[in-house]
Amino acid sequence: MGGQSVDSVVKSKLYELLSNQLYRYSINEIIEKLIDVLKSGLNISHAVFYTYNKQLDYLTPFNERCPIKSLPQDLHEGKLSSFGEFDYIPLFQNETIFALIELKGLDRSRFPSASLDEIVKACTFFHACISQFLLITQKGRKFEQLYLLTEKFHSLMNKDHVLAELITTLKTMYSDYLFYLFLSHDNDNQGDLPIKDLGFDDQEGNEIAMEAFVTGNVQLSFDKKNLQTLFYFPIKGKQGVYGVLQVVINHNTELDEENKGYITMLANAAGTALENAQLYEQSKRLIKDLQLINEISHRLNKNLKFTDTMTYLSSKIMDSFDAEEVGFFYINQYGMIQFFPGSTKFFSTEEINVYIEYLREKIEKDLEGLFIGDIKSYIHDATYSSVMAVPMVQSNNLKGCALVLHKEPYHFSFDMFKLLQSLIHHTTLALTNSLLREELETLVKTDHLTQLFSRSYFNERIEQSINKDRQGTFVLIDIDDFKRINDTYGHQTGDEVLVQVANIIKNNIREDDVAARWGGEEISVYLPQVDLKTGIIIAERIVKCVRENTSPVITISCGVSYWNAKNHENANKLFSRADKALYIAKNMGKNQVIIQEEVT
Ligand code: GH3
Ligand code: MG
Ligand code: MG
Repeated sequence: MGGQSVDSVVKSKLYELLSNQLYRYSINEIIEKLIDVLKSGLNISHAVFYTYNKQLDYLTPFNERCPIKSLPQDLHEGKLSSFGEFDYIPLFQNETIFALIELKGLDRSRFPSASLDEIVKACTFFHACISQFLLITQKGRKFEQLYLLTEKFHSLMNKDHVLAELITTLKTMYSDYLFYLFLSHDNDNQGDLPIKDLGFDDQEGNEIAMEAFVTGNVQLSFDKKNLQTLFYFPIKGKQGVYGVLQVVINHNTELDEENKGYITMLANAAGTALENAQLYEQSKRLIKDLQLINEISHRLNKNLKFTDTMTYLSSKIMDSFDAEEVGFFYINQYGMIQFFPGSTKFFSTEEINVYIEYLREKIEKDLEGLFIGDIKSYIHDATYSSVMAVPMVQSNNLKGCALVLHKEPYHFSFDMFKLLQSLIHHTTLALTNSLLREELETLVKTDHLTQLFSRSYFNERIEQSINKDRQGTFVLIDIDDFKRINDTYGHQTGDEVLVQVANIIKNNIREDDVAARWGGEEISVYLPQVDLKTGIIIAERIVKCVRENTSPVITISCGVSYWNAKNHENANKLFSRADKALYIAKNMGKNQVIIQEEVT
């Protein structure tokens, strides 16, 4: 034996095994090596490693050719026991027997008993080491798998893919269990995931799944009929719970704390991945929205004609929101509705008025948008049910309003409404910036009812003319006894007569002349470059024409004033002189033209 005691030979060989990269070998190889060390050290040909199954109380051999055995009596920790032709090395851990090594043919007389005790201790220590090692490597493997899965999760940007990966991994790791996903109804799964609807009472297990969903804690229940244990793992991200994983386990197996913890980690990894996928989807949508806003703003800031800009905006909104009608309206200083160009045909029909009547007050009051899923509950015969109305507000002033319509109720989503709001918010600036202001103002130059110019535009034209021309004639027209028309025929007919008068005036003046709604039933006409004599002829012609061509018949009175380079006239004086003349015309019996010539 070369002077070395057998125990130190065995010990040094076992130590070598332990320190010599244990993880290169499988558990079977390690046990085989242990057996070899004992066989050669103790000079025997039979040594078998048995693991002890506590539940069933029998010994399972590592070498399949050996039979299952029952545990020998009187085993003591750290002591070699003899039992018939066999000797046993018991392997205890925490005072319970875990395994033993059966030896046959040991010649006890050749070895001092202290030496044999040392070998038993060394084997016990070796076994404890490899058990610990095994535990760690098994855990390590699982965590490696978890790590890989987590990594994979994070490369998935689609929620369904994350869930599918979770289920596949669980099925391969726990082939005996069944897995289901409780998800809220808004998932759009098209695959074959085992999904159950969360929140549906008739769905079995829903109540407990709900509990897991709300509390974020793992829940447990027993199905006594089918002898199943059911676990509910919340699929938890950093910001919330996204669903619940149901694990169904048959009665003959169980889920220990370790695996429970492991599945919890898997579910959480999936939760975080779902959260990321959701954020990714959200940010993708946001980016798309921003791109749209950016594209439109960019386009609006280009030097385009207002009509083209609005037509472009309208068509973009039409496309992006899948709308049927898009329109923009403006409320002018007289409180009248005017439509921007780019509005679809529906906005020039009578039917639009009910919508505007309904929306106008609300928008003017709060300067906030309206999102209506079905306007039919308010306007019964409305053609378009889905309505989004967003005011164009700048520095707290209402500039106008965008209206987007669709026949189908609840056609627009709230996200769309939010997008429309930010779109309008961003474009209002561009629409009202200096570049477009000029065109905006000419846009509001016409009066809704009469289609004559507005008073502000009229003023502007007179100022221009006084600055650049040498002369001009101003005619102020007021309908005679108009109150009586309203009283006799109603306001509607009054309006129609007003339109008749406006049209007669338009037909009696030239392209360069300006006729405007001065206010109420008063109409002003300015004839640039026209001398007083010609001006009077035109005024007389209009008076005659109105008297002969209106129905119900009405008459008008005119006050005329005139300016030229000599009298250094300004617009206000011109107006007040015509006003005086008109007053005289009324006093002299109406239906006539009076001139105020002198400058006072
Ligand atoms: P006069 O001959 O003195 O002008 O008598 P009048 O009745 O026309 O009196 P006045 O000009 O002072 O009153 C104008 C009336 O015209 C008051 C208002 O009821 C009516 N009116 C003003 N604007 C409109 C309008 O847009 N539509 C209708 N239908 N009536 C209007
Ligand atoms: Mg009047
Ligand atoms: Mg009048």
